[in-house]
Amino acid sequence: MMEEVNEFDFENRILSNEYNSAQDSEVENCLRPKNLEEYIGQEKAKSNLKVYIESAKLRGEALDHVLLYGPPGLGKTTLSSIIANEMGVNIRTTSGPAIEKQGDLAAILTNLNEGDVLFIDEIHRLSRAVEEILYPAMEDYSLDIIIGKGPSARSIRLPIPKFTLIGATTRAGQLTTPLRDRFGVLLKLELYTPEELAKIVMRSAGILDINITEEGAHSIASRSRGTPRIANRLLKRIRDFALVKGDGTITSEIAKYALEALEIDELGLDNIDRKMLESIIKYYSGGPVGLETLAATIGEESITIEDVYEPYLMQIGFLARTPRGRCATRLAYDHLGYPFSPNNSAPQQISGQRNFEID
Ligand code: ADP
Repeated sequence: MMEEVNEFDFENRILSNEYNSAQDSEVENCLRPKNLEEYIGQEKAKSNLKVYIESAKLRGEALDHVLLYGPPGLGKTTLSSIIANEMGVNIRTTSGPAIEKQGDLAAILTNLNEGDVLFIDEIHRLSRAVEEILYPAMEDYSLDIIIGKGPSARSIRLPIPKFTLIGATTRAGQLTTPLRDRFGVLLKLELYTPEELAKIVMRSAGILDINITEEGAHSIASRSRGTPRIANRLLKRIRDFALVKGDGTITSEIAKYALEALEIDELGLDNIDRKMLESIIKYYSGGPVGLETLAATIGEESITIEDVYEPYLMQIGFLARTPRGRCATRLAYDHLGYPFSPNNSAPQQISGQRNFEID
C-alpha cells in the first residue's frame, strides 16, 4: 500500500492547489476577479478591506501594509491585484525566494511610485538580511544604506516613495515578530463554502465558455476542498469528460462520473488523503503520530502535508492536531469504512468544524 502512495505523482495531482503547468497559470490569470465586487466569498476580509481602502483614499495616503495568510489557492495573489486596482495604483509582484540580495530589494523599492503596491508572495521565505531592509522601508519609508567599510563606514538614510507592502504567506507563524508587527492589516483567508465555490465555478464556466448546470457546479464545488484553484482545475478536467462522454454540458451526472474516474470521492478526498488517513488508522492505531513519521510513512514532505492536505482534513473534522501528533477522528474511520476502536484516544470533536455537504 505504501508503494502505491510513493508512485503517486504529486505534480500531476488533480487536487493539488499549486500550479501544474504554464498553461494552467495562464488560464488562472484570465479567471482572476478584477475588483472586490467580483471577488466571491471572504466576506469578513472584504468588508474590512473596503473600509481601509476607502479611508486611505479619503486621506489621500498609501494604504497601510497588508499581510494575507491562508492555504495556497484561496485568492491571496488575486486579492493583492484587486487592492491595487481599487486604490488606482500600480502593482509590482515578486516573491520571497526571488529576492536574493539586499540590493535586489533596494532596487525594487527605489523604483516604486508614490502609493504603489509591492506584492511579495511567500514572504516567510525572505532571508534575514533582506528582511532587515524592509523594516525602515515599511516604518519610515526610507532605506538605510551603509557606505564604506571598517571604521570609516557610515550609514545614510535614503527616502523612498510611500508604498503599500502586501505580503502573502501560507504560514504566518513562520514570520519573524519584527516583520509581522510592521503590518497594519492582517487578513486571514478561510476555506470557501460549497455555495461560494459553486458561484466561482459558474463564473469561471461563463468566462471559459463552458456549459454547466447549477447541479453540475454544485457537484464540483462540494469536492474542491474549499479551494477556488482546485474548483477551477476540476471544472476544466470535467469539461473534457462532458465533451467526450456527454453532449458538452456539465451536468451533475457527468460531474459525478468524471470525479469517480479521477478517483475523487464525494467529500473531495483523493488517493493521497485516503492513504494518509488509512496509514494513521492502520499503522498507528488512529494516532497520535508525529508529523515527520507520518511524512516518511506516506513518502511526502512534511511541509506539503501541513500546507496542502491537513487544512481541509482538519476543516471537515477528519484529522486532529494534538501536541503529541496527528490523530484520525471517528468521522475519518466512518468515511473510510473502518470500525472505530474504542481504545483510540483521538479527540472526536473539532471546534470550528464546518459542515461540508455531500451531494
Ligand atoms: P493564492 O495566491 O492564494 O495561491 P490565487 O489568488 O492565485 O491564490 O487564486 C487561485 C485562483 O482561484 C485564481 O485563478 C482565481 O481566479 C481563483 N479565485 C481565488 N479566489 C477567488 C474568489 N474569491 N472569487 C473568484 N475566484 C477566485
